[in-house]
Amino acid sequence: VKEAVWEKIARLLKAEGPLSNREVARRLRVSVRSVAAVREDLGIPKYWIGCRPAWDLARFEASTVRVAGGHRRWKGNKSPDGTPLVGNESAYRVAFRLHFGREPVGRLNRSCQVFRCVEGRHQRDRVMRDEARGVIETLTDLPVGGTYRGMDLVAIRRALRGRAPYPPLRPEERKFAAPFADPEMTTEDLARRLGCCPESARRWREKGVPACG
Ligand SMILES: [Zn+2]
Repeated sequence: VKEAVWEKIARLLKAEGPLSNREVARRLRVSVRSVAAVREDLGIPKYWIGCRPAWDLARFEASTVRVAGGHRRWKGNKSPDGTPLVGNESAYRVAFRLHFGREPVGRLNRSCQVFRCVEGRHQRDRVMRDEARGVIETLTDLPVGGTYRGMDLVAIRRALRGRAPYPPLRPEERKFAAPFADPEMTTEDLARRLGCCPESARRWREKGVPACG
């Protein structure tokens, strides 16, 4: 890309909100390839149809319905498999970003049990799951009776990592413990350890690591 053209494109890409390469090319009468090259030089993310103008919290919330209990249901576009979408991105990621003010790390899951909830505060990324894991790893080293939110962490840890016989767990402890199980552990083994049926073990495990703090 010639320097004068490069500068012209760069100025337009930086001056205005998100513009597609095609739109910039049309306005400046340059090739789409040149615009793509300059975009890459500048590190400006690709424009996604449906993303302009940038989503703020008000716009996001206007695309949702508040559900009892502080959850949100998505009213906007969805992928063929039903994932809520903002442009080409999942609404979960946008919700996370708008709520926590940073990019989510890794896969997102929810701290709540409401199917496809898009409430920002209910989204959990890998950083948060690791933090929650840290809680169980460190607090279980406390003497017997060490508790977290009233749950016996020593018993939970023994059930998850120890050998049979496994300590009896209370219902809330089983639910809390399930997502912390070794990913290699079979559902049947987990169910035996927790003292529940495989169906419950599988369901609780899939719900992901609970909210921390
Ligand atoms: Zn929720």
